[in-house]
Amino acid sequence: MKFALVNNERCEPTPKAKGICPVCNEVVIAKCGKLKAHHWAHKIKQNCRNDRWETEGEWHRNWKNRFPIECQEKIILINGEKNIADVQTDKGLVIEFQHSHLTPEEQKARENAYKDMIWVVDGTRLTYDFPRFQKNIKHNSVLFLKIRKNIKLFCVYFCDEVFPKNWTNCTVPVVFDFLGLEDEEKANVFQRYLYFLLPRTKVKESDTSTFLLYLPRKDFLPLINSDWESFYTELISSIIKIQKAKRENAPQPVVYYGYRRRLRRSIF
Ligand SMILES: [Zn+2]
Repeated sequence: MKFALVNNERCEPTPKAKGICPVCNEVVIAKCGKLKAHHWAHKIKQNCRNDRWETEGEWHRNWKNRFPIECQEKIILINGEKNIADVQTDKGLVIEFQHSHLTPEEQKARENAYKDMIWVVDGTRLTYDFPRFQKNIKHNSVLFLKIRKNIKLFCVYFCDEVFPKNWTNCTVPVVFDFLGLEDEEKANVFQRYLYFLLPRTKVKESDTSTFLLYLPRKDFLPLINSDWESFYTELISSIIKIQKAKRENAPQPVVYYGYRRRLRRSIF
């Protein structure tokens, strides 16, 4: 963990410091070695929810550090139990960064607990994930809605052929980061974007398509920190409207998009 309580204040580790874990209230010790990033670790191994933070890597920490300190490692009480979220924005959105494998049970548990959340997944963990995406995305998707020049929504047909299967049935948006620890200046055309895989919005049970939002990396923080909630609600309602019209062979509805207070007409 990055923060522990020292004299009741959230503190980062300093050499030889002792603190209290904000989740289980047990003693934690500052680990300020040369090899690993400085962190706090439980003095005696605990079965504590805060434990998974002790193993987080550079990718995870880099992402977390893009948010203000007061938004990181936020304790969220759910049914009287303390949960710890990687980030919770001041608007209440929880962001969980996931590099390592997560069991489906744990994945669902966190989605059910937080509800208003997004996953950000390291798309470079497994060797094949990024090449598979580059190879299959074009044949498996069509442009559905152009929100503005660089922000586009695609309809993806066979999602499991494009993304790791364990992330294709989430109930919250999953953001894929295919850049990993690479330098942003070396990013190729695919890596310049973050890809938001949206939860399935089925008008009919037989619908197999899923929606994927392309967002330039530089737009991620401004969007998440400002009007994510209204943007997301509007996005989902536009998808449903357009899908319904298609189903019923009705004229395509005109969808207006308020993004950064500018109205954008859809491609329809
Ligand atoms: Zn603890």
